[in-house]
Amino acid sequence: MLHIVTPVGPLQCNCSILGDEKTHECIVVDPGAETDDIQEILSENQLKVTHIVITHAHIDHIGGAMKLRAATGAPILMNEADLEQFSILDMQAKWVGMESPGKVTLDQPLHDQQKIKFGNIEAVSLHTPGHTSGSSCLYIASEKKLIAGDTLFAGSIGRTDLPGGDFDMLMRSLHGTVLSLPDDTVVLPGHGTMTTIGEERESNPFLTDNRYKPRIQS
Ligand SMILES: [Zn+2]
Repeated sequence: MLHIVTPVGPLQCNCSILGDEKTHECIVVDPGAETDDIQEILSENQLKVTHIVITHAHIDHIGGAMKLRAATGAPILMNEADLEQFSILDMQAKWVGMESPGKVTLDQPLHDQQKIKFGNIEAVSLHTPGHTSGSSCLYIASEKKLIAGDTLFAGSIGRTDLPGGDFDMLMRSLHGTVLSLPDDTVVLPGHGTMTTIGEERESNPFLTDNRYKPRIQS
């Protein structure tokens, strides 16, 4: 699988281009800002975009989605629980000093466990609410890879003080869903460097500290 990461926008969101080298079909995850670099990578590698996947509706992850859709014709997918964020995208853009994205619309909802195929590769959406209500990760089991959005970072986790954020819910998503993946899964967070599930399970202070562990309900 081809995996090209290009950080975009003032907050350097990790935009991922995941492609099947044989069929040249690909998906673009989190085209957060200017799409020139993304489109250059697509044409250099002769890639055809089948889906534009948004991990969550923060401006730095979704800002370039409409432009990329116009350029490629590919549908935009996102968990509908984040539609509540659409009414404040302009405000979010102001907060981070980005241009307003204009009107953003969804083409297809993204459900938990939904399969997305590009070429012969299959990714599965994992609904991991907490950073926002609709936050999702993309898991490609055959490649042992997780595109984590702002749910998990190397040594940290997504902030939960913005609208739609919920710390307890994020902890349940991390311990219940994300940490159920194998230790050798490579994780690409929404910002910063790559890590692995094993590394974070071992050393991420938010995951090792018992105070943060969700109580098991009996
Ligand atoms: Zn975010």
